[in-house]
Amino acid sequence: MPEFVTRFAPSPTGYLHLGHAYSAMCAFDAAERAGGRFLLRIEDIDRGRCRPEFEEAIYEDLAWLGLEWETPVRRQSDHFADYGDALQRLIDKGAVYRCFKTRKEILDEIARAPHLLADGPDGPVFVGARLDPEEERSLLAEGAPFAWRLSMAAARNIPGVVFGDLSFIEESLGGDARRMIRADPGMFGDAVIARKDAGTSYHLASVCDDALQGVTHVVRGEDLRAAAHLHALLQALLGLPSPIYRHHALISGDDGKRLAKRDHARTLRSIRAGGATADDVRRRLGFTA
Ligand code: GLU
Repeated sequence: MPEFVTRFAPSPTGYLHLGHAYSAMCAFDAAERAGGRFLLRIEDIDRGRCRPEFEEAIYEDLAWLGLEWETPVRRQSDHFADYGDALQRLIDKGAVYRCFKTRKEILDEIARAPHLLADGPDGPVFVGARLDPEEERSLLAEGAPFAWRLSMAAARNIPGVVFGDLSFIEESLGGDARRMIRADPGMFGDAVIARKDAGTSYHLASVCDDALQGVTHVVRGEDLRAAAHLHALLQALLGLPSPIYRHHALISGDDGKRLAKRDHARTLRSIRAGGATADDVRRRLGFTA
């Protein structure tokens, strides 16, 4: 049987809650059942929001749940050079352009073009274009900050990337059913691939790392299902293998709303402090203790 490698990839921007526990356990469980490998990856490219104490708490909470992962753990902030190399490949292909606009300018521009008003998976959909080279040069000379956006129009014309043929495989959580999904990356508009403040984005870093770490199966929440459409395009542009996706349902709180990091009452540490055991959590999430 081919190797099965999956990962749990939290961002240390807060304490883990029951929803994270579910995601981590789904991935861990899938690896165990396949006799495969379970990796942990710390997605901390957002240096303003990530904090070392949250990273420490991730290790502590996952160990408390009884999960084991390979070391060393890949921490994205140690690998900005890898994402820079991938960005350079996209620049060399002419797939990306510098965008100097502020968020406000983008929202104003979208408001003036009501046909662009639709919200995409990452927020308002923006479609722009490379600036005139002279204007770009003078902004660069002024030191104006810029993001890199993927040009959907340019990507459509890159040899070897056939938009209509882009797809990814979605499997059920247990891996017993699978579907081929046609990828529709256009729903993102010209997605930001490298943020002004980070030099990369979740999308670019995640796609690079899944390939670098040999991830064969991405097990994660269905809130990231749409991202797979854009990731399929990035994988095609960068010549990276496509993992199989298993997006799972999200855990909701007693009010029926999905859990978020701001729901402090549901963090694993507060549940633990309240006297619950890891087995209680496993049972509550539908895993046998
Ligand atoms: N870092 C992302 C999050 O915490 C997960 C990304 C992924 O699994 O692809 O939501």
